[in-house]
Amino acid sequence: MASVELRGLTKRYGNTAVVDNVSLQIEHGHLVCLLGPSGCGKTTTLRLIAGFVEPSEGEIRVGDKLISSPAHTVPPERRQMSMIFQSYALWPHMTVAENIVYGLKLRKIDRATIGQKLDAILATTKLAALAERYPGELSGGQQQRVALARALIVEPETLLLDEPLSNLDANLREEMRFEVRRLHDEYRYTTVYVTHDQSEAMTTADLIAVMNLGKIEQAGSPEDIYDRPQSEFVARFIGSSNVIKGRGLDATHIDFAGVPLQCVGATIVAGANTPVSIRPHDIALSAAPPQQFENVVPATVVRQVFLGGSRDYMVEAKDGTQLRVVTAAEANIPQGSSVWLHLPSGRCRALAS
Ligand code: ADP
Repeated sequence: MASVELRGLTKRYGNTAVVDNVSLQIEHGHLVCLLGPSGCGKTTTLRLIAGFVEPSEGEIRVGDKLISSPAHTVPPERRQMSMIFQSYALWPHMTVAENIVYGLKLRKIDRATIGQKLDAILATTKLAALAERYPGELSGGQQQRVALARALIVEPETLLLDEPLSNLDANLREEMRFEVRRLHDEYRYTTVYVTHDQSEAMTTADLIAVMNLGKIEQAGSPEDIYDRPQSEFVARFIGSSNVIKGRGLDATHIDFAGVPLQCVGATIVAGANTPVSIRPHDIALSAAPPQQFENVVPATVVRQVFLGGSRDYMVEAKDGTQLRVVTAAEANIPQGSSVWLHLPSGRCRALAS
């Protein structure tokens, strides 16, 4: 096992940098998710790490070994990495056991050792009862586990996963997220996991690198990314925040719809148009004026929907800004009502403008 480091990594196709000056330190034994919308450069970054693509600029190191730079690229088969593709790529004419040991046979490992390793991996991936079946006789989730077992049995230094759960239906996908994390906790391979699904990233990752337009917008723990987004893109992409805008009053306040709003996060510049994020469930909504006066904004209910466990409101402040607010299901305030919003200062996060 080893750490993986990307330094100023850039890949251009023609004049377009699809991976643009990406730097990331992936600690030994950690699982890092590259998370972002389709086309933001996740798969290209993964293929650069695997060695299928050569960088235009920058370098990749595993431990203290340089494995990729514009001048020098170690071929994929000499990187001690296992990659799992969306399609799993299982051999249809081989049984589960034969598929799993294929990589070990290529490495000319003796039969007894292969047998021991196979038994161990069949047990941890819960495939022992299916060892003699063919891929066509397995469910999607079982095929996924075979792909994982086949990647893990060769004991790679690094495991690379490209949207590994995207072919599964929603329920199974949720279950397999926990399975991926459980196997990671057991084997602790340094893992890079590509996904566009934020819940998948939150469940599996030690570190999430949020990508947009070829760049890493922010890298941090799931808590960091969710609670302390630094840009409008991250705030909206992770957990769909409201992003309101106002004029900076001083280092910690903006003017929002005529109300001085105290914020945390980035230092606010007086006079600058400043975006501030706040989560829908962090806003308190009341039909009567609240006790406190600070960070209280009058608004009107535009619409509301009963969702069983909660109620989802769209409200509009005096300046026309619309905000989503999620409340307890009992808080039933009709459309058109005047309401007061309390935006707790610790939850109003000023973003880079
Ligand atoms: P993601 O995995 O985030 O969906 P990709 O890394 O697959 O994104 O692609 C990023 C961008 O690079 C896309 O706009 C894609 O069309 C472009 N791209 C990827 N591979 C090539 C290639 N071989 N030639 C030209 N453009 C490419």
